Amino acid sequence: MKINDSRLARNFEFVNSQSATELGCTRLSYSSEDLKVREYITNELKALGAQISVDSVGNIRAKYNPANLSTKSLLIGSHIDTVPNGGKYDGLTGTLCSLEVIRVLHENKAAVKHPIELVIFAEEEGSNFGVTMIGSKYMVKKLTLEDLKKLYNDQKQTAYDYIRERGFEFHPDEDQYVDGSNELGMIELHVEQGGILDHQGLSLGIVQAITGMNTIQMTVKGVSNHAGTTPMRYRKDSLLAASEMIYKISKFTTSYETAVITVGKISVSPNASNVIAAETIFNVDIRDVVQENIDAISQQVEALCYEIASENDVEIDIKLIGSSKVVHMDESLVKLIEEQAKANQLSNMRMNSGAVHDNAMLNGIIPTAMIFVPSIGGVSHSPYEDTKFADIVAGAELLLFTAARIVI
Ligand SMILES: [Zn+2]
Repeated sequence: MKINDSRLARNFEFVNSQSATELGCTRLSYSSEDLKVREYITNELKALGAQISVDSVGNIRAKYNPANLSTKSLLIGSHIDTVPNGGKYDGLTGTLCSLEVIRVLHENKAAVKHPIELVIFAEEEGSNFGVTMIGSKYMVKKLTLEDLKKLYNDQKQTAYDYIRERGFEFHPDEDQYVDGSNELGMIELHVEQGGILDHQGLSLGIVQAITGMNTIQMTVKGVSNHAGTTPMRYRKDSLLAASEMIYKISKFTTSYETAVITVGKISVSPNASNVIAAETIFNVDIRDVVQENIDAISQQVEALCYEIASENDVEIDIKLIGSSKVVHMDESLVKLIEEQAKANQLSNMRMNSGAVHDNAMLNGIIPTAMIFVPSIGGVSHSPYEDTKFADIVAGAELLLFTAARIVI
């Protein structure tokens, strides 16, 4: 069996040409660009004999089951939506390589015992309603159609109304959910979206864990006053205290090998150059692949901020506003992928993912694993996102041979 490189390359060109903008690709879920690509991919799969189902929120499942011997499928696939002016490879790589895998199995008349299903998750990027992974969350019942009534797009239309208006029928009782009764597991191929593989000069990453995260919001309250008439010793300057907190927080990572801490959002009020800042709000984003580290760092960050607030005579409110747990990939799937990469002589390393993927939503319900291909310079969510085509082919090859070991 062999991946057909030129067919795969033509597929990337065709799909991206359907949604090219002046800068990069814009293919938001439910847009006309998205609908065109859905139609193209499902027609290709129908021609191979796959059974297609589309659930209420637009997740596509295409089941290739020529021998009809079993009901338990191996899921492969990813998403096709992009961020506005996004790149050519995020999501699409996993989807088109999975399509190619099914084509190769079909043309080789592989004796497929277990069905293999291409899954295309809807609305992964969160570009419409500000909530990511709506499709995969719906598929595992972490989100319901009722929840869609509380999400709005920029036109103030609910997700519930918008998705229906775009032609998707709501039939929650007929939808196929992932609960492990009909799935063997899922392998998602994706671009790394970081620069580790590119730096190391390797073609493939085999993901062992996806980082967990805490987002803590700090509201520092001082007193606003005249910048000229208030002596330094009488001030309650919220921004000065916040600055000391932010600087010292970043130093915590030195004791944790894989942890990263970011303060990327801050607002100051009244935000005037001649007024001492009354209130400063900033978010601390703490991530690691070791859950205990996230918890320990969060506690240390909170203790430090209370201490600095008291030294600066300002008040502080601390609130956890977002949290996701560390996700561990299924070790037996990880080992199988690793063995196959060795057998096919594909350069690879085990690694962690700093970004969350649809795959993480299914984890814990069914065994999941991920294969990464390098992002040149670590660039992603950008029109300049790029991956060497040879690496994409290597990823497709590894997915093909690993999937074959499971389903044949
Ligand atoms: Zn993605």
